[in-house]
Amino acid sequence: MHELSIAQSILDILKNEAVTNGYDSIDSVTVEAGEMTGIVPASLELCFEIAAKDTVAKGSSIEIVMLPITASCNDCEKDFDIVGRAFECPHCESTSFKVTGGNELRIVEIEVPDKTEGAITV
Ligand SMILES: [Zn+2]
Repeated sequence: MHELSIAQSILDILKNEAVTNGYDSIDSVTVEAGEMTGIVPASLELCFEIAAKDTVAKGSSIEIVMLPITASCNDCEKDFDIVGRAFECPHCESTSFKVTGGNELRIVEIEVPDKTEGAITV
């Protein structure tokens, strides 16, 4: 039920935005999620659709953009994306690196019938 609680967090933000800015409805929301969050896009889409019923976001669509897990090598100092289970630097094969991204979860865009909102962190 990980995705359901995330869908509800997103909806809470949308409801607040709607009240603050006087929106009557929302067309779509775009969310960026790092791979480390473990979000399954199809599952989050479904949970959002269910949770959005009877809210200002009823009938809106959600677009989920998955971001890779990024790391910085401690040996050659290059940045790289961690793909699958290859936990080593693709440049020098070092297994000593620090994870620098992949846990992001943020709303990057809210589209309403008349205008577009900017980025909001969930
Ligand atoms: Zn390296």
